[in-house]
Amino acid sequence: MNVHLEFEAVIGLEVHVQLSTHTKIFCACRVRPHDGKSVAEILVNSNTCPVCAGHPGVLPVINRKVIDYAIRAGLATNCKINPKNSFARKNYFYPDLPKGYQISQYETPICEQGWLDITTQSGSKRVTIQRIHMEEDAGKSVHFNDYSLVNLNRAGVPLIEIVSGPDMRTVEEAGTYLRALHAVVTYLGICDGNMQEGNFRCDANVSVMPKGSKKLGTRAEVKNVNSFRFVEKALEYEIARQIGVIRSNGAVIQETRTFDSAKGVTVSMRSKEEAHDYRYFPDPDLVPLLISEAWIEKVRSDLPELPQQKKKRFEIELGLSPYDAGVLTSSKAMALFFEDVVSALVNKGWNPRAAAKPISNFLSGEVARLMNEGDLELSQGKLKPEHIAEVVQLSKEGIVSSTGAKQVIATVWKTGDTVHSIVEREGLKQVSDLSSLEPAIEKMIATFTHQVAEYRAGKEKLLGFFVGQVMKETGGKANPGLLQELIKKKLSGS
Ligand code: ADP
Ligand code: MG
Ligand code: ZN
Repeated sequence: MNVHLEFEAVIGLEVHVQLSTHTKIFCACRVRPHDGKSVAEILVNSNTCPVCAGHPGVLPVINRKVIDYAIRAGLATNCKINPKNSFARKNYFYPDLPKGYQISQYETPICEQGWLDITTQSGSKRVTIQRIHMEEDAGKSVHFNDYSLVNLNRAGVPLIEIVSGPDMRTVEEAGTYLRALHAVVTYLGICDGNMQEGNFRCDANVSVMPKGSKKLGTRAEVKNVNSFRFVEKALEYEIARQIGVIRSNGAVIQETRTFDSAKGVTVSMRSKEEAHDYRYFPDPDLVPLLISEAWIEKVRSDLPELPQQKKKRFEIELGLSPYDAGVLTSSKAMALFFEDVVSALVNKGWNPRAAAKPISNFLSGEVARLMNEGDLELSQGKLKPEHIAEVVQLSKEGIVSSTGAKQVIATVWKTGDTVHSIVEREGLKQVSDLSSLEPAIEKMIATFTHQVAEYRAGKEKLLGFFVGQVMKETGGKANPGLLQELIKKKLSGS
């Protein structure tokens, strides 16, 4: 009987953000070694001490930087910062959690009641942020065929967990929110944003309910998804699955699931634990943490430019459309890249406003296409800001066509070669030399006498046909704008 009912999804995201501090949250172990290696590359269990290895009798000491970073995140997402904070023990057994509890925050998270505005195809929307709390990461179990080992290098690495309200109604909204949040924490410089390494990972809560209903359905939580695409795929699958369950008169059960990215499906892991299962209680080893107004104001005055502010500035200072400015500021890497191209062209004498539009077109066009095609970050291609600056310059001078420019960018993306060498090698130089175009135009006029007569009699749309013919003759390398002018002139008899 439910078959004809229309459903609506409800999504709330819990995001774990690994903070890029030098040291762990409660001890002096470094999160990253001096030589810039990632945590994964450090010799197993070498980056530990009695505190993060959970020896009995040791005492944790909070890392001040972690608090600074959490306040930054809270201010950037319009949260209230709690003046009085405490830490709590979240008790559970797991081999990679030697203490038998994780130090987290429970009743008094550092930040509460914030929001983030997002813009999707259907307009703009405010997503509430229920809370942001600080906690330590656990270690890692490494599984082999018939045994498992534990690596505690990650134990005690600082995290903040950012919990949204159940406010999103579509997969697009969830994806947009997640990307916006990723931009915020990377702009803030509190997280390196590396999703492959799990430094920004998401638990996606999703339920479905009859369209327009006020009562939320039972949710499933898909754990630890570490790419934007996977979150979107997991949600799509999960929404369809839950609707299927209800339509066949079943009931969705509250449970924790994982996303199998190879098969594109979510799989049940365990029934959902409730807060009381964790026996939360205040950690007696850590005194309540008082955050003064002055401390908060100090952090506020040090906040860097945020995505929304940068977007506004690009609109006002550079004359970009809200859409273009939004695309360019959607990731910190893209925004910095764009700004580097602008300065490269300004150094060559360009006006920044004149430079902004063509740069924006190449970045949100061809470059975005190459990134999407390979599901790659900007830094994974070999393209540098100087390359784009040069392509913009050559297009402006009419030396390469718009198609040629795209071809150059695609080749640079793969090879990193200089723009000039690619233009030469792939024969992309447009013919702009008037004298070399004349013979081809003369030949065209002599061949298509009938059409020429028609054109002269007023059938002006034939101009495109003429341009096409000369293009063919010159192997597609004529500068189309110039060519059109030239043909017009010839045919008007001057
Ligand atoms: P827990 O910490 O046990 O996972 P919370 O109550 O803190 O539980 O909720 C976690 C997340 O689940 C939040 O992001 C919230 O928005 C989301 N959520 C809560 N109820 C629903 C629901 N019915 N459907 C979808 N998401 C939900
Ligand atoms: Mg949860
Ligand atoms: Zn340690």
